[in-house]
Amino acid sequence: MNQNLDTFNHMESNVRYYIRSFPAVFTRARGAQIWGEDGKAYIDFFAGAGALNYGHNNPLLREKLIEYLQSDGVVHGLDMATSAKEHFLKTFEHIILQPRGMDYVLQFTGPTGANAVEAALKLARKVKQRANVISFTNGFHGVSAGALAATGNAHFRQGAGIGLGNVTFMPYDGYLGPGADTIAYLDRMLGDPASGIDKPAAAIVETVQGEGGVHVASKEWLQALEQVCRKHDMLLIVDEIQVGCGRTGRFFGFEESGIHPDIVTMSKSLSGYGLPLSMVMLKPELDRWRPGEHNGTFRGNNLAFVTAAHALESFWRSEGMSELVQRKADLLRKWCRTLHSKRPELDVKLRGRGLICGVHLSDRSGLGHDAIGELHKKIARRAFDNGLIVETAGAGDEVIKLLPPLLIDDKLLHKGLQILEDSIVAEAHNAIPARPPFPELMHS
Ligand code: PLP
Repeated sequence: MNQNLDTFNHMESNVRYYIRSFPAVFTRARGAQIWGEDGKAYIDFFAGAGALNYGHNNPLLREKLIEYLQSDGVVHGLDMATSAKEHFLKTFEHIILQPRGMDYVLQFTGPTGANAVEAALKLARKVKQRANVISFTNGFHGVSAGALAATGNAHFRQGAGIGLGNVTFMPYDGYLGPGADTIAYLDRMLGDPASGIDKPAAAIVETVQGEGGVHVASKEWLQALEQVCRKHDMLLIVDEIQVGCGRTGRFFGFEESGIHPDIVTMSKSLSGYGLPLSMVMLKPELDRWRPGEHNGTFRGNNLAFVTAAHALESFWRSEGMSELVQRKADLLRKWCRTLHSKRPELDVKLRGRGLICGVHLSDRSGLGHDAIGELHKKIARRAFDNGLIVETAGAGDEVIKLLPPLLIDDKLLHKGLQILEDSIVAEAHNAIPARPPFPELMHS
């Protein structure tokens, strides 16, 4: 049931967005569930667009937060030294960097993911003294001007009001179909002085494109991209904002491929509690910033440092989290296979890695690309009415994106998948014309 959204509709700009997909007034949240003011419970397969990997109001993190607040711990700290930040830095070094043999210095930026991307691009351009950057089709890196220039989707780009330049888009893994080697194409373009591409400072890439429709880059593609970056003297920036902090199973989405990015951007689930915290990890030799050259008032969210450190201590001291993600990812895949065998005519498919998955109906339904996108939207809307928060992703709503909290329990995961399945079946039944029982006879 839609609740009264008059105040929001009256007071808030037309730019508001998720309120349209999930039209309820929410009051309370815990783990993988969120409740509307009418008491209705929703299972959350969106998890703050990837900001809530450990669920809403995780009690372990909340306890630390309350303790810190009650001790009058510093909340706003600019970029001054605080005990909370020191504890986070040491914890990140001991739990994340050292065991992986990684050597990075950390730069805290303004609180949003786009702030981290802006800093990363600015630093790459400063270091290499070149303006151009390579980004990839369907890439999403944020909506502030610099990050937006590296974002593919026209819906976001057209809002800029200025020319978005200094970025060259290249085809992502799989963009040109299964047989095409898009890295060989990139290499050729970069090596040819007549290709029209200005020599880039860097390439920026997501290992799994989240907003762009859950496109997964293979290990081999990422390794080849790294080699091309080295060959053409470009920095490799990996944007981990959506798939970092365990979403794909390992702490970093790029770990599995064994590549060594020069710069990494982190945000979303870094604080673990949904508190804004963003940072750039950069190789020490790239640290060419002068003090204060890239500044900002909100680079010291100490509440976020407290929960971020405790999230690492609670969940990343062992391999347990990676195993958990893998096991739940297997459940998702099994659900899709079962749905496929129960309803082969719908041809429901799933792509992704770990617990970022894109469910989609295939073109075999005969509906065409645009109608499938609309159908995905309707499925998500019906799922919401039935108590599941799930969003579509990609230009033209290419997939229904599943991003449940990594810690979701199996019972809620199954319940959410059942709601999704019922919504798919009901909406597809409305949209896909029944096939004739013997299609071959129709042509005789
Ligand atoms: N980069 C990636 C890969 C993202 O998925 C996002 C947000 O979805 C951003 C950057 C931008 O983050 P924010 O919305 O916090 O600015």
